[in-house]
Amino acid sequence: MAGIYIHIPFCKQACNYCNFHFSTQQKNIPLIVEAIISEAAIRKDYISEKVETIYFGGGTPSLLTDLQIENIYLALHKYFEIDQQIEITLEANPDDITEVKLQQWKKIGINRLSIGVQSFAATDLQWMNRAHDNTMAIDSLLLATKYFENISIDLIYGTPTLTDAQWIENIEKAIALNIPHLSCYALTIEPKTALQIMIEKEQVSDVDTDQQARHFDLLLEVLESNGYEQYEISNFSKPNFRSKHNSSYWKGKSYIGLGPSAHSFNGNSRQWNVSNNALYLQSISKGIPPFEVELLTRTQQQNEYIMTSLRTKEGIDLLKLQHQFGELQTNKLLQQASKFINENLLVQTNHFLHLTNKGKFMADGIAADLFVEPS
Ligand code: SF4
Repeated sequence: MAGIYIHIPFCKQACNYCNFHFSTQQKNIPLIVEAIISEAAIRKDYISEKVETIYFGGGTPSLLTDLQIENIYLALHKYFEIDQQIEITLEANPDDITEVKLQQWKKIGINRLSIGVQSFAATDLQWMNRAHDNTMAIDSLLLATKYFENISIDLIYGTPTLTDAQWIENIEKAIALNIPHLSCYALTIEPKTALQIMIEKEQVSDVDTDQQARHFDLLLEVLESNGYEQYEISNFSKPNFRSKHNSSYWKGKSYIGLGPSAHSFNGNSRQWNVSNNALYLQSISKGIPPFEVELLTRTQQQNEYIMTSLRTKEGIDLLKLQHQFGELQTNKLLQQASKFINENLLVQTNHFLHLTNKGKFMADGIAADLFVEPS
């Protein structure tokens, strides 16, 4: 089984922390939609497996008209073999959600929404330069839950404007609204973002890692006591509401990414489309998909597996590691892991090596320490 990711590279305005590829010039939306459909036709042989998930991400896919979404969806049906139990996610921003749009999305076949709430606190949303306010955040969820059961929201913690009490309030609001899936991310300062420039000019304070660690602990505590499962470091779900699409990334399944800046992966290589709307359009108009490819070495494949699996609840499957990369590599990893086991950051359960709650906040650093050096 495989997945399809569609990148819609347009937003109403730039959030100050964001380094995804998008343009605020929306006049080219129709051209990009046509180009994505052409790219699907050109690259239809990239995946041979049945498609079990489709994900409209961005940018802001909720800026598209229902007809534009439907045209992309119909093209995917034409060029790929789609499973009947398909999960189709649409990322939507609160300021785009209306009763009419929700009805249209449902009619097209969208069966999961991922809503970019980020915070329910007014000052926090202003600080992020989001296009919605706290009232829209709540109202959009009240509406969305009338039409969709499978809803995820994004929340950001560790911003200088978010107190511990407000962070707890944010999580509790999501629980009270019966949202079955939450993706919660610590604020990170990405290069070339407005936020990075503001920090450099000392216009806003830098990230406080102690505050982020506190917010992370509060997150685990509140969600765990309310029946959510942390199935990946940043992802929490009620039973049966794990994201199939994101889970397939972490399981190393193949996926094709369509649209400017979209990534694709087929087990042995990774490729990424050009992050420039004009160059993307130009290239597709000539029938040439505009991407760069990187063939993954055995070392890169192993490190990729360590990085992604360690972030999941199940952790690193030592049998799988042994099967794919050999006994020597598995023993080396266990040797390297012993110091983290002694510090109660990692634990081995049967043939799985996974993070303890204490280790979760340091996941990336621990994974990097378990990486294999290229020989
Ligand atoms: S809406 Fe999403 S993609 Fe667009 S700028 Fe904000 S965070 Fe980035």
